[in-house]
Order: sequence, then C-alpha cells, then structure tokens
Amino acid sequence: MILEIKDLNVTYNSKSDNPNAAVRGVSFALEENSFSGLIGESGSGKSTVIMTLLGLLPRDSAASGEILYKGRSILGIPEDKMASLRQREIALIPQGALNSFTPVMTIGRHLREVLELHLGLKGEAAERRITELLAEVELPPEIAARYPHELSGGQKQRAAIAIALSCEPKLILADEPTTALDVITQAAILRLLERLRREKNLTILLVTHDLPLAASVCGELFVMKDGKLIESGTPRQLIDSP
Ligand code: ADP
Ligand code: ADP
Repeated sequence: MILEIKDLNVTYNSKSDNPNAAVRGVSFALEENSFSGLIGESGSGKSTVIMTLLGLLPRDSAASGEILYKGRSILGIPEDKMASLRQREIALIPQGALNSFTPVMTIGRHLREVLELHLGLKGEAAERRITELLAEVELPPEIAARYPHELSGGQKQRAAIAIALSCEPKLILADEPTTALDVITQAAILRLLERLRREKNLTILLVTHDLPLAASVCGELFVMKDGKLIESGTPRQLIDSP
C-alpha cells in the first residue's frame, strides 16, 4: 500500500463554540500503481481528506487517526517535511486548476517557475524538460509560448497535469479534474491519466462527485457521505450491491 488512512477524524473550528466534524472515522488504502476514486456529493468530506493528507488544513482544525505514506506516519509531521513530501511525492491537481493560471504568464513560464523553484532547473535543461512534460500530456511544444486564454479547456487541464508531473510525484490527487469540460474531453483527460499511471508507475486518486465517471476508469471506489465512508469496492461491486 502506498497510502493508508486509518480511522481519520477531522474537525474544523475545533476550538470554537461550533466545531464542524467534517470527517468521521474514515479508513481506506491505496495500492501502489492503482487508479482509485474518492466519491461523494459536495460537502461529504472529500476535500477535507485530501487536504489533511497534504497537511493543508486551516490552523484551528484538528485531525486524529493515522495516515501512512509508504508505511511512514505523515499526520502531524513538521511543515518542512510535509512541504518536501508535497514537492517530491504527492502532487495535487487542485479543483479548478485549469482556471488558476496567471493570465499574463505563458504556459512555458508557469512550468519554468515550478521547475526552477522546486528542482533548481534552469536554462536549456529547463527548456528540454518543458518540451518533455508537454509531450507527456500530449501537447505540442508550441503550447509553451501561448497564454492561458489561448488554450482550450482540455488543453489547460493537460497543462495543469504537466505542472503536477513536473516534480515527478508518485501519487497524484486529482480533485474534479474534468469538471467544466465536455464529455469527450472528460474521457480524453481520464485516458491520459490512466496512460500516465501505467507508463510512469503512478498511483492516482480521482476525487469527484461523479460516480459513473469514476466507475469508468477506477479499479476501486471509496464512497463518502456526511463525513463517513459508507461504501467501498470495485465499480462492479458497487453497482451490484443492493
Ligand atoms: P468542494 O465541494 O469542492 O469541497 P466547497 O464549496 O465545499 O468545495 O469548498 C470550497 C472552499 O471553501 C474550500 O477551500 C473549503 O475548505 C472552503 N469551505 C467549505 N465550507 C466551508 C465552511 N463551512 N467554512 C469555511 N470554509 C469552507
Ligand atoms: P467535499 O470535498 O466532499 O465537497 P469538504 O471536505 O469540502 O467536502 O467539506 C466537508 C464539510 O466540511 C462541509 O460541511 C464543509 O462546509 C466543511 N468545511 C470545508 N472546509 C471548511 C473550512 N475551511 N472551515 C470550516 N468548515 C469547512
């Protein structure tokens, strides 16, 4: 197992008069090189789970339980360790990533900044890596010179995936990566993620409210409702269950 979450409880505003127990007793695990889905309607606690495992909860929240990454406990580890885990091992494709590009910066410059900041790559080496990263997400090299508004939604989502890939993570958390895309483009993005999983030995957790979409690509699904994990299994098992 690359990731194990055991009896996770997360409470927002934990010290206030109205604490919000957003995640309650959630346990699940991801096998290395798997494509799994964390499913549930809006407000069910999905984002809270992924923000907890990335160490990105607001200060006044409290988390208990256990989160193991490659067998090592990562819940509550110091921020510098967590930051390096976020840079080298676990990448988040945040919700709405395709709309979060800086309008005045080309796609190449977005990638250049990440490569320099996190890997210290510059000059020719960075340019080569940018071309490689674009190819990995099936974008032509000319895209580097384009501004975000010159790309289609699907191209922007691919660029967001290239940014996530830039630090060569092992685990990718993709939060609603296909929202706001047409169904054909949605399918293409899922096929791309699946190909990357196979070829780069990645583990992918797809976070979405869309059960049929997740069932179309995931080997295993974890279903949340009101902060709890209510079901898990293969898409077949979930569809056949009474
Ligand atoms: P999603 O359904 O994708 O999690 P939300 O609309 O629930 O999106 O949340 C969007 C943002 O607002 C997140 O950063 C989340 O942490 C924050 N948020 C959600 N609910 C609350 C709340 N009750 N109080 C403060 N922030 C919240
Ligand atoms: P999902 O990702 O499934 O939409 P979330 O994890 O965003 O669900 O939200 C779970 C619950 O936690 C909701 O009740 C939401 O309002 C609450 N919540 C999310 N973020 C915050 C926050 N920053 N502060 C307070 N409550 C929050």
